[in-house]
Amino acid sequence: MSITNTQTSFARHIFANRTLNMRALRAIGYDMDYTLVHYDIKAWEALAFEFLKKRLMALGWPIEEASFTPDFGMRGLVIDTKLGNIVKANRFGYIKKALHGFEPLSFEMQKETYNRDFVDLGDSRWEFVNTFFSLSEISMFAHAVVAFDAHRFPTPMTYASIAQTIRCELDAAHLEGAMKCEIAKDPETYVVTDPDAGLALRDQQIAGKKTILITNSEWSFTDDIMRYSYASCLPAGASWTDLFDLIVVSARKPNFFTQNSPIYRVIPESGLLEPVNAIDERSKIYHGGSAQHVEAYLGHSGDEILYVGDHVYSDVNVSKAVRRWRTCLISRELEEEIEALNGVQADQVSLDAYMHQKDVLERSCVRVEMALAREKGQGGVVPEGLQATWHEMRTRIRALETKIAPYAIKQGQLFNPHWGLLMRTGNDKSLMARQIEQHADIYTSRVSNFLEATPYAFLRSTRGILPHDVCPSCQTTDGV
Ligand code: IMP
Ligand code: MG
Repeated sequence: MSITNTQTSFARHIFANRTLNMRALRAIGYDMDYTLVHYDIKAWEALAFEFLKKRLMALGWPIEEASFTPDFGMRGLVIDTKLGNIVKANRFGYIKKALHGFEPLSFEMQKETYNRDFVDLGDSRWEFVNTFFSLSEISMFAHAVVAFDAHRFPTPMTYASIAQTIRCELDAAHLEGAMKCEIAKDPETYVVTDPDAGLALRDQQIAGKKTILITNSEWSFTDDIMRYSYASCLPAGASWTDLFDLIVVSARKPNFFTQNSPIYRVIPESGLLEPVNAIDERSKIYHGGSAQHVEAYLGHSGDEILYVGDHVYSDVNVSKAVRRWRTCLISRELEEEIEALNGVQADQVSLDAYMHQKDVLERSCVRVEMALAREKGQGGVVPEGLQATWHEMRTRIRALETKIAPYAIKQGQLFNPHWGLLMRTGNDKSLMARQIEQHADIYTSRVSNFLEATPYAFLRSTRGILPHDVCPSCQTTDGV
């Protein structure tokens, strides 16, 4: 037996928000789309955009010229359905960047628009971009807002009804089958395979975990896509279904975790469904049902089950909030984001040093300003030296700001040219990062990262940093 010691890059690590002992898990459930199977996002979303466009044009929408703009959006953004904007918020929901159509709001406009508003995801005004499947949606929303503002819509609409119609039509495009048919016909174009994912699943089975697939996709699509994706890692004669102890398709997450829906046995050869009362050993593939059926079959619940998925709300938020399952969010963007940050490490050192210098200067400057104000307040003569010191400090602060600005601009364009990083908003965590921190016990870029970790890993959370953990005077200013 060989012991592999593949040192994967840091970007392929499994990161823990809350400590998770993999050894204690009895079952691991997986979502399929963008979790077990990664798609070429640009290809899939460009196709979805065209299907969506056709449907909206059939309703008379003036969007003949609209085309999918791949870099325009990213996960973690929020649609403001009241004002027709797309925004990026920080962990508190404060809006840090906003676009109307494709135009960024000026600093003043943004401040005026949002100084009393913050993103509250419990309010239907705000639509969070949970999944890559929504990138066509926000791209279309921006095109529709441009047409609406130009009074080109034939029927009365609002930004909210535009958003709602796009949502419904995209839903229908996903459900109708023609789009999935094109994808299943040409998987080379749409699917990005990763043979190590199958090996990770097999290791988990060897370690005694039950492996489960729970997907919203229907059986025929699941079968086509999984067969294509996992063929290369299976021994001769094996089927992709051997990688799982249980398969649930058309699961209707998030309702799967909250409601008790009827369950059907799938007859794989024909795809026909047979109603059953429970999951049992006689069959492996089911349609519908609920997390309760899965827990009853496993004889395990809560923190003995890990669920791995890419949808921030349906896969990790609800499974944790309602079932108390342990959760893992798959975020493929992490690889590009971490690589991008590695590329600017030297910049970050300089930026931190400049920021530290600015911080020290500002602390002194405000004390001088206060001393000046006190002198003036007491009717005394303001010492010329003090006034000059204040001016000199202000000049040095402005000079530092000039040095800092290009670094800040460059950072704001890392990962996505319009929106910057997925997990950060300026110096703070992004709303996406907050969602992940709140709902996902662990997060990682792809399923195959479990291979190196092994099913026995003890995934320890890092020590949380608080503002008072960092002593400003301990930061170095050397070399800048
Ligand atoms: P999962 O991620 O494996 O649970 O499956 C996602 C399924 O949901 C895929 O079959 C997608 O086509 C489908 N899907 C994604 N976005 C939408 C939507 O907006 N409406 C309806 N179905 C969707
Ligand atoms: Mg998914």
